Amino acid sequence: MVDLVSQYQHLKSEIDQAVLEVIGSARYINGPAVKEFEKNLATYLNVKHVIACANGTDALQIALMALGLEPGDEVIVPSFTYVATAEVIGLLRLKPVMVDVDPNTFNLTADIVKAAITPNTKAIVPVHLYGQSSDMEDILALSKKKGIAIVEDNAQAIGAEYTFKDGSVHRTGTMGDIGTTSFYPAKNLGCYGDGGAIFTNNDDLAQKIRMIANHGQNKRYYHVMIGVNSRLDSIQAAILNIKLRHLDAYSSARQQVATTYDKAFEKITELKTPARQANSTHVFHQYTLRVLNGQRNELQLYLKERGVPTMIYYPVPLNEQKAFAPFIDKNLHLEYTKMLCDQVISLPIHTEMDSETQNYIIESVKSFF
Ligand SMILES: *Cc1c(COP(=O)(O)O)cnc(C)c1O
Repeated sequence: MVDLVSQYQHLKSEIDQAVLEVIGSARYINGPAVKEFEKNLATYLNVKHVIACANGTDALQIALMALGLEPGDEVIVPSFTYVATAEVIGLLRLKPVMVDVDPNTFNLTADIVKAAITPNTKAIVPVHLYGQSSDMEDILALSKKKGIAIVEDNAQAIGAEYTFKDGSVHRTGTMGDIGTTSFYPAKNLGCYGDGGAIFTNNDDLAQKIRMIANHGQNKRYYHVMIGVNSRLDSIQAAILNIKLRHLDAYSSARQQVATTYDKAFEKITELKTPARQANSTHVFHQYTLRVLNGQRNELQLYLKERGVPTMIYYPVPLNEQKAFAPFIDKNLHLEYTKMLCDQVISLPIHTEMDSETQNYIIESVKSFF
């Protein structure tokens, strides 16, 4: 699905040197590389504060903790997402209110959110799934009117841009109260282990987030609240400092692969190529097709036999997962989420795709139909 080895080979000498420097410095935790990366990422995203942490799941958990919610408060979250988005809500004894997504963009819309708001709704977590923004202008307007916080799960869309009606352009993850991301190796900006970050333009939230990620202390050994231990290693930060410089080029490479797939599949009526959200760029963390004729599993098997890896993100709606049973009405039926779980298939997409490989994938898909 990805080719992280080739990507590393292009940056090998630079990365090896940076990693060895950290090892030689012995500043493994909170070293200068971490501070530098937080600053560099804040500049890239045009956001006031970036707080690095241990992974994207922690980032979501810390973001929700910083909002000071009470047990039982409702948090609206799409059911069609990676488990982490909803898991942290349950972990904090908040109530995940799982909602459907738009079947074309795979993302939340303001109408879907609006229908789920109750007097107990305290937060909304839009996920910018597969690499493009949710319809943030309308969701933000709604949340502002109702006084509900927004935490953007930006683990899959780092680098994507959303344009508001007034012409202003914002990176995903910087539009709500808090944004989060993951640097898991296969993410668009991946390190060589685990990593994550939290973004905000709000000074008070930033201070609280930093404190929570560091055992709730504002001064060493003075703990003002219950926190967690969530840190980005200096070695990972050193790697990310280098890779961040290439992120826009990486996004372009992915977009090029996506355009080639789009053109190749446009005439196959059994397939629906990924729709683009109006006003958002798409950085294609995944290239995800919908198989409309009920043969998704057969297609996956057929491709596997030809040596083409594919993935199903995600095969089961979160509201139907056993782990969430205590939180969810068992009669809840989310029509599009259910349908998408049966239709979606993601093809290999990454920064190192050569045309020979891509043509082989395309011809394999075409020969199935
Ligand atoms: C990867 C991912 C996460 C979690 O990130 P980790 O670093 O693996 O903890 C959260 N949400 C979404 C949508 C993701 O894709």
